[in-house]
Amino acid sequence: SGWWEAVQPAARDPILGVTEAFLADSDPKKVNVGVGAYRNDEGKPVVLECVRKAEQIIAGKQNMEYLPMGGLVKFNDLSVKLAYGDTAPVLEEKRVAAVQTLSGTGACRLFADFQKRFKPDSRIYIPVPTWANHHNIWRDARVEAHTFRYYKPSTRGLDFEGLMEDLKKAPEGSFVLLHACAHNPTGVDPTADQWKEMSQLFKSNGLFPFFDMAYQGFASGDTVRDAQAIRIFMEDGHQLACAQSFAKNMGLYGQRVGCLSVVCDNSQQAVNVKSQLQQIARPMYSNPPLHGAQIVTTVLSDPELKEQWYKEVKVMADRIIGMREALKSNLEKLGSSLPWKHITEQIGMFCYSGLTEDQVDRLTKEFHIYMTRNGRISMAGVTTGNVEYLANAIHEVTK
Ligand code: PMP
Repeated sequence: SGWWEAVQPAARDPILGVTEAFLADSDPKKVNVGVGAYRNDEGKPVVLECVRKAEQIIAGKQNMEYLPMGGLVKFNDLSVKLAYGDTAPVLEEKRVAAVQTLSGTGACRLFADFQKRFKPDSRIYIPVPTWANHHNIWRDARVEAHTFRYYKPSTRGLDFEGLMEDLKKAPEGSFVLLHACAHNPTGVDPTADQWKEMSQLFKSNGLFPFFDMAYQGFASGDTVRDAQAIRIFMEDGHQLACAQSFAKNMGLYGQRVGCLSVVCDNSQQAVNVKSQLQQIARPMYSNPPLHGAQIVTTVLSDPELKEQWYKEVKVMADRIIGMREALKSNLEKLGSSLPWKHITEQIGMFCYSGLTEDQVDRLTKEFHIYMTRNGRISMAGVTTGNVEYLANAIHEVTK
């Protein structure tokens, strides 16, 4: 008898399973709209030009020493400026505790552990639906998780009344997970006015806003616009926290570069909070990886490279916006009588199509089109070469 007899196979990850099935399909027409990573119009992964240039600048000049526990200090400074704004008072007053993290996932997990350590009886409220890993993260951090309504299937838009109703019932001192922009998987974001209303509710009811910002710049093409929710809450004086990822907006997926920042009451509190975040990181991974943080630091501190990054992130966002329009107009051209305007109203990497599980299964079986069974289409996988084929297949299964 072995040590691990009682260990059963873990549940398959629904997203990674889609990729496996796609790779195993030999049909030349096959389309993968399951991936959560950007692809160019040839369906290929992209390394940004600004990143290549930053690599050249760094090449051969850096040592390989450990970073401090909290990561590269300059990276953290540049990262929070991107999130909160170059001249944000919270930064000038040194009220923000920031540490470099293992991308957005690591930032969420570090915060969940911090929440459990210092607010052990608090809850996290998670939108329905959300990125599936959010549930895993707060579960493994042993935080009591609750949900709130977010998406309304009938309109394929925001269930703002449901959201407000549910959050009004959350006990004071609860934490609420918000997607700062480009909500995954729905592509549905609150408007500026709705964010303002939410901010007031959070204030009056003593709720803590935790922003997961995995797509800054990637949603609209404009990093300032995509940060509007955070700026609105910040201006209302919230002590919010924010998980940033450079996976999507700088195409640094495998480099695992992100930042967790916590806005505090004063600079001493920020020093204390940072020291405790580092204390949580220490027994898990000691300190974060070097290379990705150097790339981001090089891009964001060089005005020319930064300008180029703004352009390149806009190219990615615009390609996706263009593909939304192409998919919608192709469906209309085919004479589909169903409403498809949500395709262009939703924003970011994903289109929450409204296709049923049965329809998704038919797309896969009959048309070799791969996506998660919740009907989430990764717009990054749509190209001028496959958009007509995709539209036709969707039309066939929704007739
Ligand atoms: N949050 C959301 C909402 C996401 O969609 C993702 C990426 N799928 C992440 C966080 C984390 O990604 P990463 O750890 O690669 O930065």
